[in-house]
Amino acid sequence: MKVAVFNTKRYERPVLEKSADGFPIEFTFLESRLDVQTALLAAGHEAVLIFVNDVANRSILEQLAAGGTRFLATRSAGFNQIDRQAACELGITLAYVPAYSPNAVAEFTIGLILTLGRHIHEGHNRVRRADFNLEGLCGFELRDMTVGVCGTGRIGTEVVKLLSGFGCKILAYDEEPNEQVMLLASYVDTREELFRYSDILTLHVPLMPSTYHLIDNEALKLMKDGVFLINTSRGALIDTPAVVEGLKSRKVGFLAIDVYEEEACLFFEDHSSDIIRDDTFARLLTFPNVIVTGHQAFLTMHALRNIAETTMQSLDEFAKGFPCTHAVPAP
Ligand code: NAD
Repeated sequence: MKVAVFNTKRYERPVLEKSADGFPIEFTFLESRLDVQTALLAAGHEAVLIFVNDVANRSILEQLAAGGTRFLATRSAGFNQIDRQAACELGITLAYVPAYSPNAVAEFTIGLILTLGRHIHEGHNRVRRADFNLEGLCGFELRDMTVGVCGTGRIGTEVVKLLSGFGCKILAYDEEPNEQVMLLASYVDTREELFRYSDILTLHVPLMPSTYHLIDNEALKLMKDGVFLINTSRGALIDTPAVVEGLKSRKVGFLAIDVYEEEACLFFEDHSSDIIRDDTFARLLTFPNVIVTGHQAFLTMHALRNIAETTMQSLDEFAKGFPCTHAVPAP
């Protein structure tokens, strides 16, 4: 089977190739993102593999289908970039990787809290300049904090487990509370309550119409002054201009994000010689109390292996005409 792999990075290609050992698969590795210009490159490939910032909207799926594509898998846990209805109508089977390593993202989330809360990044920069002054580096201890976890699915649950070791008070909110979390955290009934009582708020819900701009002006008004926001889920959960205003007024005391609503034209590429045209993003980088990472929370060797193996399983099932174990849920 011919498989076009969009958005291939050097760190994942050997892992994909190794896990395809013994499968009758011929990969075409493409560095470009899947978009309206590049969709043609998949012509003649029965299967296409994409990543989080590839575009799989109706018109692109139509192009893929016209070129013979019958299977599309995203090498990610989120699948909000795919028009599921269109894929269903075009007869394209969809697969994803629901749980390649919730721990990878959960551990990164804790890393962001500790880094920003203790100014580790700033301390590192100072010492490299031989500046050993500690002014401005006073941090907080997690045991003094109430941490709100919004979304207690696979990743949120791991975050709760890790947080429980720090002795902080943990609040949680999810439309479907789970028993594992109940042992370690107190569920609140509404997300407004979570916003109101959390010193630190970390987002682990998927991006859907009901969670789009979950953190907006209205949500910020409910929050404690100086709240610490973390988003390792999807950028559009946050109305970034509203949060920038919150940072300027000090309503938001800390912001750590691994995802950004307009990340598609920035992340995963080297833009160090370019002019950044996104003023909101550029403004974010000026705050001393903001950390931005480029969608790297998933990136561990454990996760890359699981992504490759799960994707290979889905390709194998599709090739044999079996139902796909990791099919994207129907729209
Ligand atoms: P999951 O499906 O296991 O959990 C999501 C949870 O959110 C579920 O428990 C669900 O009940 C809850 N939920 C859904 N809508 C809600 C709402 N409106 N209000 C409250 N709760 C709601 O997903 P997961 O594996 O934990 O992943 C969460 C998200 O993390 C993914 O959708 C993806 O966007 C993101 N992610 C980011 C990275 C990264 O590298 N930064 C990596 C993997 C996943």
